Amino acid sequence: MTETETTSPEETEALAAGLAVRLAPGDVVTVAGELGAGKTTFVRGACEALGVRERVTSPTYTIGHRYHAVDGEVSHLDLYRFQGVSAAEWGDLEPYFDRSIAFVEWPEAGEGVLPPPRFTVRLRHAGGARRVVSIDEC
Ligand code: ADP
Ligand code: MG
Repeated sequence: MTETETTSPEETEALAAGLAVRLAPGDVVTVAGELGAGKTTFVRGACEALGVRERVTSPTYTIGHRYHAVDGEVSHLDLYRFQGVSAAEWGDLEPYFDRSIAFVEWPEAGEGVLPPPRFTVRLRHAGGARRVVSIDEC
């Protein structure tokens, strides 16, 4: 487990970039934390490091985004509006995990249904622009 305090969005993105280079297709990374904690910022930094050219934005109003990266595919899911994941919903989600690195915001609803994560990330507000980012390898 590592716990790092960041003091700007750019620092959170750089921390995410350091994790990204350790990932391979099929790896799932859950990114937890309250609204505004920096989950999407973290995923943006990871995606940029993986070579995603498109601007990474919050998929809160869609299930997810799937991007072409330099060495494969990267998915970004947001389960904010989910209360659990039914079999039918899993059918919609499954393609995002197929041969892709997958980042999942608000992962709580998918516990036990989504593929097990390789890393879990949690961001917490620590006053102003400070965030405590903990990363666990599972
Ligand atoms: P979430 O996806 O968790 O709701 P976002 O990443 O969308 O959060 O938003 C985080 C907001 O907090 C952004 O406006 C970002 O610029 C700001 N911010 C300020 N300091 C930090 C930091 N240290 N790390 C990440 N985001 C930060
Ligand atoms: Mg978000």
